[in-house]
Amino acid sequence: MKSGFVALGGRPNVGKSTLLNRLVGTKVAIVSDKPQTTRTRIIGVRNLPDGQVVYTDTPGIHRPMHRMNVRMVDAAVESLRQADVVALVTDATLRPGRGDRFVIDLLRDVQRPVFLILNKIDLVSKPRLLPLMEQCRTAYAFAEIVPVSALTGDNVDRLERLLLDYLPEGPALYPSDYLTDQPERVLVAEIVREKVLTHTHGELPYESAVVIDRFEEPDEQGLMRIYASILVDRPSQKPIVVGRAGAMIKRIGTAARLDLEAFFGARVFLDLHVKVREQWREDDRVLDEMRVGRGEG
Ligand code: GDP
Ligand code: MG
Repeated sequence: MKSGFVALGGRPNVGKSTLLNRLVGTKVAIVSDKPQTTRTRIIGVRNLPDGQVVYTDTPGIHRPMHRMNVRMVDAAVESLRQADVVALVTDATLRPGRGDRFVIDLLRDVQRPVFLILNKIDLVSKPRLLPLMEQCRTAYAFAEIVPVSALTGDNVDRLERLLLDYLPEGPALYPSDYLTDQPERVLVAEIVREKVLTHTHGELPYESAVVIDRFEEPDEQGLMRIYASILVDRPSQKPIVVGRAGAMIKRIGTAARLDLEAFFGARVFLDLHVKVREQWREDDRVLDEMRVGRGEG
């Protein structure tokens, strides 16, 4: 039996959360085409007949600008240090840049096997992949360089087997039915936030937060009632989320409800409100509620 922690690290938007969901086999982290979607450290557990892999998805590492981002980067670096194997995820369609260098420099004193994962190979032609892998081999003494597509699942099985090879012998760290450390409230908030990001497109530059005001277990009829607030920074942003005659908030609510019903296997009543809360990104109370930069295990 093998078991241990694998930290997924790397720049924003390279596909860490998509890969986590793929490796775990269930959606535990939200995904979007906006950088900095992941704000907390998330654990996803994969149970196999011969081992247990505990993955941690970290916020992308980048130069911090806000208090929130300082906590995000701290959390990311901390989980790289605690892992048995570090998996540095990169986007194979992009040239390696200064951001990758920043992460590699952080890894120098981590003293752990580091995998380089070249993600998004569904977008790269085979002839371009081999020279890229060669180039990476010279950049750092990676334990393994593994090309994958988190989106299609291509080569992800092989990645899993390789990771298991590098984990120590040991008993499972979590119960065999344990999936994620994300509390249900946080998962719900994250799903709503994903829909806000998806549906408002570029109009809302990562300005929203979602807080769960009330969360009820299913009643006798199997209906769950969930009340949540979407926090925006400025009064001018509220109409973007509400939409004309409430059309946008309705679309967000419907999309979130469908995901929540699939996740919980129950009918969901979801009540969404939009509130203006200036400076929420500097407010430790809001950040704690959202568990920014926190995570047990
Ligand atoms: P993170 O910021 O590193 O967690 O990245 P996300 O997992 O949120 O993904 C960022 C974007 O890249 C999303 O639009 C994903 O759908 C997309 N993406 C992730 N993995 C792949 C992949 O293997 N192939 C392609 N084509 N897109 C991907
Ligand atoms: Mg992410």
